[in-house]
Amino acid sequence: MSELPKTPLLDELEKGPWPSFVTEIKKAAKKNLMAKDELAQLEKSYTDKRGYWKHGGIVGVRGYGAGVIGRYSSLPDQFPNVANFHTVRINSIAGFFYTSDAIKMMCDIWDKYGSGLTNFHGSTGDIILLGTNTENLEPLFAEFSSRGWDLGGSGSAMRTPSCCVGPARCEWSNIDTLDITYSITQEFQDELHRPAFPYKFKFKTAGCAVDCIASIARADCSIIGTWKGNIAIDQDAVKWYEKNGMNIQEEIVNRCPTKCMSYDGKTLKINDEDCSRCMHCIAKMTKALKPTGERGATILIGSKAPFVIGATLSWVIIPFMKMEPPYTELKEFTRKVWEYWDEYGKNRERIGELIIRRGMRDFLEYVGIQPDPRMVKEPRRDPFYFWKEEELVPNSKL
Ligand code: SF4
Repeated sequence: MSELPKTPLLDELEKGPWPSFVTEIKKAAKKNLMAKDELAQLEKSYTDKRGYWKHGGIVGVRGYGAGVIGRYSSLPDQFPNVANFHTVRINSIAGFFYTSDAIKMMCDIWDKYGSGLTNFHGSTGDIILLGTNTENLEPLFAEFSSRGWDLGGSGSAMRTPSCCVGPARCEWSNIDTLDITYSITQEFQDELHRPAFPYKFKFKTAGCAVDCIASIARADCSIIGTWKGNIAIDQDAVKWYEKNGMNIQEEIVNRCPTKCMSYDGKTLKINDEDCSRCMHCIAKMTKALKPTGERGATILIGSKAPFVIGATLSWVIIPFMKMEPPYTELKEFTRKVWEYWDEYGKNRERIGELIIRRGMRDFLEYVGIQPDPRMVKEPRRDPFYFWKEEELVPNSKL
């Protein structure tokens, strides 16, 4: 293959202590023409201070409406090997566990049909294959699917659900995040592959409120493991932390968001009724504290990046849901939420934005959930309680 293009501006991004995506593109460009043109076009973008990718046209594989994102160069004469350079999303494994054989197999297929460039993982959670042309999509998909892989979600569809490593590696996981993610993926195949919603819908499942998958900030439906019992305290272990330099008052008690802890230098106490299960104290003193009692999940709705309105975090809709296979309650609840969104959502309006527009009362009434003080996001501003005329006492003087 001919020499790599000169890239003085991109070369700057290889300086410094960190791995550089430029180095990786250069490696791929030595053996792949698409990667070579991608490198050259990127340098031009840096030189001209503008992007040369454009969206447009529907691309995909037969039977699927999602999973491939069309990308085209606006300079096809100059960079013919990236005239079309589509992104392919492959549905990732719950918890992101792969064998090295599986990764090698994926890379071999991708070298054959695409640019060789990948992104493990995109922010949705998919395996991202960066850049192939339209003709290669069907054979690429055939090879992946014959080995048991599937496309991920894109566009106005349910996106590939993702989760933290959960019980596979973490002792604090209250729920089987991996199984929940797998079950959701299997149940909602249609919604994943055939975009029919007003806009995207993401599920993310975390085993506890430490929320290593950042579900509270990145999912239309955040499923966060929790517990019902008290926090068990090993007072000797508390002392051990103190002896080893931890300031229990400063680092633990004062930072409890609900102020339900106290420490007199001898005994740590928790008023469990007021504990919000935030995990702060447990994550800091893992030897001393642990949850007890029934396990399940808190279901929250509505987080998203800025779009119609600014970024939002999810807020509590169901404080405690049992999470046992086949997760019927969660699936029925989800279908009801989608029905509401189908009925009232505007084009490109996320479920959280719809709830903000129409009000929480409207949403709760539709999905048939009773208001609960734990749902209140901003006290004194959003009272979700509502009374209907027929519920008021007739002739009441109040
Ligand atoms: Fe306080 Fe959070 Fe610990 Fe509960 S889990 S006692 S709210 S720090």
